Amino acid sequence: MPELPEVEALRRSLDDPVSAFPIVRAGPAHVATLKTFDPPLSALEGRRLAGARRRGKRLLFPTADGELVLLVHMMSAGRLRYLRPGASRPKTPAFRLAFQDGGELILTEAGSKKRAGVWLLNPEEAEQEVAHLGPEALGLGAERLGEICATESRRLHALLRDQRAVAGIGRGWANEILHRARLSPYALSRDLEPEEVARLAAAIDEELARGLELRERGANDRKTYRVHHRLREPCYVCGTPIERIDFEEHTIYYCPQCQTGGRVLKDRRLSRLLR
Ligand SMILES: [Zn+2]
Repeated sequence: MPELPEVEALRRSLDDPVSAFPIVRAGPAHVATLKTFDPPLSALEGRRLAGARRRGKRLLFPTADGELVLLVHMMSAGRLRYLRPGASRPKTPAFRLAFQDGGELILTEAGSKKRAGVWLLNPEEAEQEVAHLGPEALGLGAERLGEICATESRRLHALLRDQRAVAGIGRGWANEILHRARLSPYALSRDLEPEEVARLAAAIDEELARGLELRERGANDRKTYRVHHRLREPCYVCGTPIERIDFEEHTIYYCPQCQTGGRVLKDRRLSRLLR
């Protein structure tokens, strides 16, 4: 799933092209992709977008007249691209926006499950749509992170991925950040010493900034992640093989030497079966 570095890199690349020309045709959209019906997508036609904005993992495209906001959430398999005039087009995208010069903004989604979403909202509705999100992860700072950690006792990996607590981090960057911070994914947020909170806050900024820089240069997952999806590969700090914990919905990658004092964490699914 695209997270803050990926979505921010995309936002930066879309900001100019989507605002260069007015929209001539909005849609069609896949029935499962379009989440709103009033106003209709055709309300965008003839308007110009002000550019691309981002909140957490969502992209927002306000119109230049300030009346409408197009919101896009790619979820795990959605892919949003700007195609230049004359570039070849996918046949049945989940959503498309055609500009006057022939350029198009295209959302495609691999697989049969349509999870990515497009909303056309007025500015107040758009604000409500993102109101539940916590503060942006990049630039959060130790003080704010300390408050979030103290609110309730949560395992760090789950807390970092909770968009209501902190916006923009998912599985991939939670693995990278906790590794950089030398903290166990299972450590409880309230048990952290102030020095550990500071280390975690620094790791959030360092890793997300590193990811953003790489993604802006077009780096793929293999070149970007150093812990995520690196099972049994040597840790880039200490050389210990990276371990993985499997859950039904996701997996956690970590270094037992750098993060858990040499302990290998139990696979919860497996331990449940053996109980
Ligand atoms: Zn290590």
